[in-house]
Amino acid sequence: MNIVNGMIPDNNTTVSLRILSTTDVHACLMDYDYYRDQPDPSIGLVRTAALIASARDEVPNTLLVDNGDLIQGTPLGTYAAKKYAAMKQGKGPYVHPAIRVMNAMGYDAATLGNHEFNYGLDMLDDVIAGADFPYVNANVYFDEGLGLEPEECGRNRYKPYVILDKRCLDDAGQAHDIRIGLIGFVPPQIMDWDQANLEGRVKVKDILLSALEWVPKMKEEGADLVVALAHTGFDGKVALTDGNAENAVYPLSLVPGIDALTFSHTHHVFPADRHLLDASFKDESGELLPDIHLEKGTIHGIPAVQAGFGGGHLGVIDLSLQFRQGRWQVVEGTSSVRRLEKEEDAERDT
Ligand code: MN
Ligand code: MG
Repeated sequence: MNIVNGMIPDNNTTVSLRILSTTDVHACLMDYDYYRDQPDPSIGLVRTAALIASARDEVPNTLLVDNGDLIQGTPLGTYAAKKYAAMKQGKGPYVHPAIRVMNAMGYDAATLGNHEFNYGLDMLDDVIAGADFPYVNANVYFDEGLGLEPEECGRNRYKPYVILDKRCLDDAGQAHDIRIGLIGFVPPQIMDWDQANLEGRVKVKDILLSALEWVPKMKEEGADLVVALAHTGFDGKVALTDGNAENAVYPLSLVPGIDALTFSHTHHVFPADRHLLDASFKDESGELLPDIHLEKGTIHGIPAVQAGFGGGHLGVIDLSLQFRQGRWQVVEGTSSVRRLEKEEDAERDT
């Protein structure tokens, strides 16, 4: 917590904070299907931008994050990767086209997805360098060539977390600086999927081990709340003790200190209508797992959102923070998703 104008907030002062999330954009910048060579109004950051603008207008305090799998997935992404060397030689500093769009949209932070590693670490370094916002990842480490296990590696390849000082207005219109901690994770399987790019250069630690290691440090450093940007999906069969799970958001929601979660990777949407959720959210008899609340959008009581694919959905987490016992505490959190209109919806409306 930082004190604005020397004023300590009164007890029970309430601040509402909205976190907006895109994920698995997969280089869908335009609302266009390059494979069918025709417009597709159900995707594209150019359209998500309108959802973001409305969601920002409705409340005083918002944060916009991207959850990874950004630079690969359309011919535009392939073109940018193939022409990377030439584009880097161009006038001015190199800025990847997707990052150029996100800089204009005013993103606050982002994390890496597995597909960010498809074109090698050097290009990725330049992608990150072009961003006006921080990239966080806590579980990719330098391979120092010492034959260490990932758990023994000590030097993070990326910024594990950031703590953003965010000036927020409380419900009475008073300003407070809230310290928002953001941490990121990627599936350890990138070592297999992009072995040619990564072997000998990095090692990847289990998502849960990294969370248990770093989240307490963020709290020590003064984060009022911690939001995990987790490029990992939901799998109800994964437990806290399972090592190196690809889809680890279910146990990740149990890690103490995490107040909200944006998740990714499987391209599903959460929360969603019960019948749209696949078997990974259900027990053997087909019942929804008890720790999932679809109306509130929580997993183990933690607000969590997965914004699908291609910019087709916007994830919205609404947090209510109260100043209690000398610190800000998240007292309530819900999540929801907003969807781009499909063409048939638009036709029906007109
Ligand atoms: Mn993806
Ligand atoms: Mg992925």
